[in-house]
Amino acid sequence: MITRDKLNELSVWFLTGSQHLYGPEVIDQVYEDAQKIVAGLNDSGAIPVKLVAKPVLTTAQAISSMFAEAAASPDCAGIVTWMHTFSPSQMWLPALGKLSVPMLHLHTQYNQTIPWDTIDMDFMNLNQSAHGGREFGFAATRLEVNRKVLVGHWSEKQIQADIADWCRVALARLDAEHGRIARFGDNMRQVAVTEGNKVSARIAFGYSVEGFGVGDLVAYMNEVSDADTNRLVAEYEDLYDVAPELTQSGARHESLRYAAKQEIAIRAFLEAGGFTAFTTTFEDLHGLSQLPGLAPQRLMAAGYGFSGEGDWKTAAFLRASKVMAMGKPGGTTFMEDYTYNFAGADSTVLGAHMLEICPSIASGKPKIQIHPLGIGGKDDPVRFVFNGRPGRARNATIIDLGDRFRMVVNEVEAVAPPHDMPKLPVARVLWKPLPDLRVAAGGWIHAGGAHHTVYSDQVSLEQFLDFASLHDMEALVIDEHSTMHSVQNELRWNAAYFRLR
Ligand code: MN
Repeated sequence: MITRDKLNELSVWFLTGSQHLYGPEVIDQVYEDAQKIVAGLNDSGAIPVKLVAKPVLTTAQAISSMFAEAAASPDCAGIVTWMHTFSPSQMWLPALGKLSVPMLHLHTQYNQTIPWDTIDMDFMNLNQSAHGGREFGFAATRLEVNRKVLVGHWSEKQIQADIADWCRVALARLDAEHGRIARFGDNMRQVAVTEGNKVSARIAFGYSVEGFGVGDLVAYMNEVSDADTNRLVAEYEDLYDVAPELTQSGARHESLRYAAKQEIAIRAFLEAGGFTAFTTTFEDLHGLSQLPGLAPQRLMAAGYGFSGEGDWKTAAFLRASKVMAMGKPGGTTFMEDYTYNFAGADSTVLGAHMLEICPSIASGKPKIQIHPLGIGGKDDPVRFVFNGRPGRARNATIIDLGDRFRMVVNEVEAVAPPHDMPKLPVARVLWKPLPDLRVAAGGWIHAGGAHHTVYSDQVSLEQFLDFASLHDMEALVIDEHSTMHSVQNELRWNAAYFRLR
């Protein structure tokens, strides 16, 4: 599984194009400049993976071999292409036609500014990115190659952040390709949107969805030692604001120990199987006395994908989002639109779930509490309770339309709740959807968007769209520019495009 501390074991290859016309000195210079750019980007500290400068490419055979090598390399998440000079792109066509890894075309040049006093034709011949990049772009467009194009000088903070974000998307694709989703129990009864075609998902994203009986998890629960439980309970008391009744001297301490055992057992189960995400369902808890609440919350914070009610698509999407978020400030969580506060143009949505919201979005120190669940007929579950951080964020969902997957993203402005909610014992976040609730919810419903989402103030809109693009997936954005008319038209146009194709 891709983890933050192992990102330096993964790479993105930096491929520089040129041609023999210029002679060996120029090619040497091109390679030297490419190495300096790569060193500059690696030293910036912005790029989450290792960028690797590969030898300058000047023939069709070398380009095809390099692309094949990148595709076969298990630690190569993608390639960056850059044309320092002009590189006649007929020689790129065979390789581009078979491209099977994410590609970022970085349209930059070695020098930032024109050396006005000394510029001569030698300089012009060496620094031709402005038209070399266009020649390369034509070849990629001619072949309808799916790729990202970024324009800007490589030393600029913004372009470095953009390259970094794209690398994270490429990592999310690599992670999904080998992803494994464990489901404890099946879908919650008769829910439609959380279902979907697992074979289509395997083809589109690569991950497998594997079902287990809750008894398989109970077997892990039975193996959890008291020593490990003690250690984790101490960690809870150290990191969070634990309710007095749950502490060691409290009357309900056993419930906290049970939640800790669930976390240890689920983590061990996921690690043993190489799983990157999981689902639970409150309808299927045979042999478990509490619905796992704190455990999924803690495991989401550790980077695992999760969804309730057997919703494997959202669990897999949350895992991808956790990878896209790696090393960025903010948080990313499983979410559900729960209830509204109608107030005209300022209407807001209270997002929450029965229990399972990731504390990475918490404002302040999360509380650990125990309360009745109200449904399911089991013991009261332990859970984190907190308010989400205010600020710009977004909700994203992936649904299965039968012939394709569709992503829907809604930009939101999270706000501090105007009142305390002393009797609401779950983690929650209040947001104003953009442009307003009327268009945001209306458009979302027309798009068939799910009630389960990935909520993030960490993954950018551009990253979500790049993830959709990498998987050739339809993507609809509802933001401050949207109207009901624009959303409905976009849905019609998208339907025409995807069906004609
Ligand atoms: Mn739900």
